[in-house]
Amino acid sequence: MPFTKPLPTYLVQRYHGWKATTYDENKSWYRRLADEGQRPRAMVISCCDSRVHVTAIFGADQGEFFIHRNIANLVPPYEPDGDHHGTSAAVEYAVTALKVAHIVVLGHSSCGGVQGCMDMCTGDAPELEEKTSFVGRWMDILRPGYEMVKDIADPKERVRALEKRSVVTSLENLMSFPFVKEAVDAGELTLHGLWNDIGEGGLEQYDGKGFSPV
Ligand SMILES: [Zn+2]
Repeated sequence: MPFTKPLPTYLVQRYHGWKATTYDENKSWYRRLADEGQRPRAMVISCCDSRVHVTAIFGADQGEFFIHRNIANLVPPYEPDGDHHGTSAAVEYAVTALKVAHIVVLGHSSCGGVQGCMDMCTGDAPELEEKTSFVGRWMDILRPGYEMVKDIADPKERVRALEKRSVVTSLENLMSFPFVKEAVDAGELTLHGLWNDIGEGGLEQYDGKGFSPV
């Protein structure tokens, strides 16, 4: 394929470093993972933001988390309309095939996606209102959340509240999936909402009303 290029040298070097150390020291474990398949206990839905380091926060190894990342850690409502639904596909697979015991929605501070939603809703980002904007149409999921926080006077506090709304919106939308609701009602699956303060290393969890430190 002419449009692909060899991997940049720094990535090739890092790969060989990993292979010679971490992989080599744990070879039998990696082989067991390969032979036995994955059995993650939890699914994590987090933002694509490179600063959100899910596996580091929880000290997780390969095979422990089924991780789905998208802009602003959003789960759309259940819409079985035959379209391409990447997030819904990941949720379906985690719940019906892998039978994970937990789904953790992890939001974070200084989320660019949430800020974009804020700007779009206040009229400061008309480009996001374009029908052709994938980010804008994705962030439509959070528009009802904006309505709930728009009266908060302090802009920093307002965007933080919207970051947390993105977590709650995802939790509510998860429950609109029949197979999620069924598993939750049967006591086989629990849902969790978290918000990570990147600068402070903080982690807050949703208790059904608000967020407080874990
Ligand atoms: Zn983000």
